[in-house]
Amino acid sequence: MKVCEIFVSIQGESTYAGLPCVFVRMTGCNLRCAYCDTTYAYSEGLEMSEDEIFESVSSYRVRLVEITGGEPLTQKGVLMLIERFLNNRFVLLLETNGSMSIKDVDKRAVIIMDVKTPRSGMSAEMDLLNLKYLKADDEVKFVVVDREDFEWARSFIVDYGLLDKCKVLLSPAYGILPPEDLSKWIIDERLPVRLNLQIQKYIYGSNRRGV
Ligand code: SF4
Repeated sequence: MKVCEIFVSIQGESTYAGLPCVFVRMTGCNLRCAYCDTTYAYSEGLEMSEDEIFESVSSYRVRLVEITGGEPLTQKGVLMLIERFLNNRFVLLLETNGSMSIKDVDKRAVIIMDVKTPRSGMSAEMDLLNLKYLKADDEVKFVVVDREDFEWARSFIVDYGLLDKCKVLLSPAYGILPPEDLSKWIIDERLPVRLNLQIQKYIYGSNRRGV
């Protein structure tokens, strides 16, 4: 497998935000979102075996692990890697962009899945069949760029009954949409979703890698 970076940090997003977490960022992504902040993960990285990845992560002595990217599911070995962590009693989060099938992902994993909004430029790439595989502990995340995106996300949440399926998070596109705008819209609409801030960027800044 090609791995861009492995590092320990504070989990900045999802309902696990604030917890120490080891991140495995896989190389490669099949999408090109307009606001992408991890373009370096498109191609940078080193080949590592499953054993090498597992040993590197284990050396941090943190039980929460997130496999992210790029898009991890573009690499076949990731499904076995996920099972390896779960079989060894890690809590495993899989962050995925919503365009690749999650059908075969081990059901013990927590899936944090994007639904790409129109302003990402990638909403047509979503695999909507994924919605039927979501579990109550999984999380769906919308990165919202503007009011139009917000209204699109609100309609999507209602049309697909997301609030009855899983946890739902709305995240303001960092440096583009002020968090206070999105928080006001959520409150005004009484939308029972979680405002998701990328807190690692507030702690470490937006350009630092490996945090
Ligand atoms: S899915 Fe993620 S890594 Fe891929 S282009 Fe979009 S934001 Fe970047």
